[in-house]
Amino acid sequence: MPGGVAGALPAAAPEAAEPMAAIWADFVRLVPPAMTHWQHPRFMAYFPANAAPASMLAEQLANAMAAQCMLWQTSPAATEMETVMVGWLRDALGLPPHFAGTIHDSATTATLAAVVTMRERALGHAGNREGLAGGPRLRLYATAETHSSVEKAARVAGIGQANLVRVATDATLAMDPVALAAAIAGDRAAGDRPAGVILCAGGTSVGAFDRVGAAAAVARAEGLPVHVDAAWAGAAMICPEFRPLWEGVAGVDSIVVDPHKWLGAQFDCAVQFLADPAPQIRALGLRPAYLATVGAGAVTDYNEWTIPLGRRFRALKLWFVLRAYGLEGLRQRIRNHVAWTGELARTLARLPGVEIVTAPALALFTFALAAGDGATEALLARINDDGRVYLTPTRHRGRAAIRVAVGQFDCTRDDVMMAATVVAELLGRTD
Ligand SMILES: *Cc1c(COP(=O)(O)O)cnc(C)c1O
Repeated sequence: MPGGVAGALPAAAPEAAEPMAAIWADFVRLVPPAMTHWQHPRFMAYFPANAAPASMLAEQLANAMAAQCMLWQTSPAATEMETVMVGWLRDALGLPPHFAGTIHDSATTATLAAVVTMRERALGHAGNREGLAGGPRLRLYATAETHSSVEKAARVAGIGQANLVRVATDATLAMDPVALAAAIAGDRAAGDRPAGVILCAGGTSVGAFDRVGAAAAVARAEGLPVHVDAAWAGAAMICPEFRPLWEGVAGVDSIVVDPHKWLGAQFDCAVQFLADPAPQIRALGLRPAYLATVGAGAVTDYNEWTIPLGRRFRALKLWFVLRAYGLEGLRQRIRNHVAWTGELARTLARLPGVEIVTAPALALFTFALAAGDGATEALLARINDDGRVYLTPTRHRGRAAIRVAVGQFDCTRDDVMMAATVVAELLGRTD
């Protein structure tokens, strides 16, 4: 019930210290019952936010050391581990060795960093100094399948949501490169200044993939930087057989992959790969006198690559996860999830009245009832009231649909197929 927890808390902080036993008892009473069980093996809502046990241990160690890792000097292990882990992950994803990178809290922040960098490149690095007033109108290009974080980046970077051009997609939901070229040409003719292209490798609603190589070729011909949002699907690229889905990625400027989604690194851990970090460091880096450190020049201070100054020790959980499961263990999980997703979609499609709205993209598909949006929405409510599996809604081409996102770290085939059992039971009953 909305307000249930807030209503159980006192209106003000206590003046006198309270015993830890009382705090603990209230925690047990109030908090766990009002939490969503993201680590449950039948959580198939949103996207997974996996916290593999090895990663939880690393996170607790980082918390116990309680360091603020803003500079190399303020915890050399954190900075150096970050450099090496970004390299391990880059190689594991099959990205070429010229990519450097850093770890942000979220894909939203990584995309904002990329968009601010696009803005500054488009303005010859004058925006940070002089502000945006009186400057040219900047334009960004993406399809409607990209995540809302791209809109947020356009807002926060001062480019404006209206200047995020929604490029048409083809029948496969990929950006139409001809439409991209036409949009850029039209904007230039109107006196506007194109700043960059944001591509989607695994969209959040139904898992759309742009054809990265084709769109990036247009951007390159126009001298525009490209950022690829692979927040969810990027994890799957540890399996070579899925890499055709983001073919051409080797030629882009920036890529974000969230190991905190499908790879098991407890939230938060968003890795941004950069073909050349220099423009982003120029856009975001500041060196005030009170941060002057030993070894400057010889060390990397990742705060200059990112938006916040303060930094958590996020590389530690990547180190633990990659070692505790090995790339082969992680690949096996992802391959299982993809295979079981296909099996579940085929099973659901055989139920009378059920239609697959979007076919599986890796471990995500959507379905609906032929009877219409009202019936689909009512079915979703009954699925979630039943409680054995958790699914969430979306809309696709104007139609209400139910999303199924498989990928909890230790789910089994039985966990995944339970979704079909639940739907079959509910459709066979009229209560
Ligand atoms: C989840 C998701 C995001 C946002 O990720 P955060 O790390 O929560 O900011 C962005 N893009 C895509 C494609 C996503 O799936």
